Amino acid sequence: TSEETLLELKSMRVFYGAIEAIKGIDLTVRKGEIVALLGGNGAGKTTTLRTVSGMLQPRHGEVLLRGERIDGIKSHELVRFGIGHVPEGRRVFSTMTVRENLEMGAYRFSSVDMAEMDRVFTLFPRLAERRSQQAGTLSGGEQQMLAIGRALMGKPELLLLDEPSMGLAPLIVQQIFEIIEEINKQGTTVLLVEQNATQALGLANRGYVLETGEVAMSGPATDLLADNRIRAAYLGEG
Ligand code: ATP
Repeated sequence: TSEETLLELKSMRVFYGAIEAIKGIDLTVRKGEIVALLGGNGAGKTTTLRTVSGMLQPRHGEVLLRGERIDGIKSHELVRFGIGHVPEGRRVFSTMTVRENLEMGAYRFSSVDMAEMDRVFTLFPRLAERRSQQAGTLSGGEQQMLAIGRALMGKPELLLLDEPSMGLAPLIVQQIFEIIEEINKQGTTVLLVEQNATQALGLANRGYVLETGEVAMSGPATDLLADNRIRAAYLGEG
C-alpha cells in the first residue's frame, strides 16, 4: 500500500433539513487500501457514502479526491473522476439483461470496453452464465454481483460499496468478500460500508467506527478487531 491519499473528508457535516446526520468527520482513504466504515443503524454510513459520491452535499467541511475539492460536483460527473458507487439495496435495472446492465455501467465512455466486460465476467462467472437473463430474475447474491460489476464497468479508481452483504446467505457473503479482495488486488481502492464488522475488518487495512454521525474509533483493522470496546459493541461479544 502506497501512502498516497486518494480520498479525504475534512470536518464534513451533512444535514437532512435541520437534522445533522454527519457531525464533522475526518476520514482518509489511501490509494490501494480497503477501508471499512462500520457502525450501527443510523450511524451515518450511508450518508457518508452518498456525500462522497455527490448525491448529497456537505453543509460544512470538504471532500477531496487526490487533493482536489469534489464537494459540490454532482454524482453523474463524479463517475468521470473515477468514483464508482454501489448503493444500498443493489438497484439493478430489473427488466434489462445482465449484459445490458453492465453496458449501462460504461455510460461515461463512448463505447463499451469488451476487455472490461470480460474482466467482470471472469470475476463473476455466474454473471457470464446468465448474461442474457433479465436482472430481476437473478438471486439476491447475483444481483449484488451485478451491481458491483456494473460499477466496475465505469473503471473506478475508488469503489464505494454500501453493505454488499445485506440480506445474503453466509456462503454468498463469503464469495462476495473474496471478490472484493480480488478487485482491490487488481488495483481498485475500496471504501466498504458494513454492519458485518468482523468480516469487513478481516478484509480491510483500516477501519472507522461511526456513532451518531461522529467517528468514535479508527485505526488499523487488526487493532480494531482486537479492541474490547469494538468486540463488545459490534462483534457480538462482551
Ligand atoms: P443504516 O445501516 O441503517 O442504513 P447508516 O449508518 O447508513 O444506517 P444513515 O442511513 O446514513 O445511517 O442515517 C444517518 C442518520 O440520518 C439517521 O439518523 C437517519 O435517520 C438520518 N437520515 C437518513 N436518511 C434521511 C433522510 N432522507 N431524511 C432525514 N433523515 C435521514
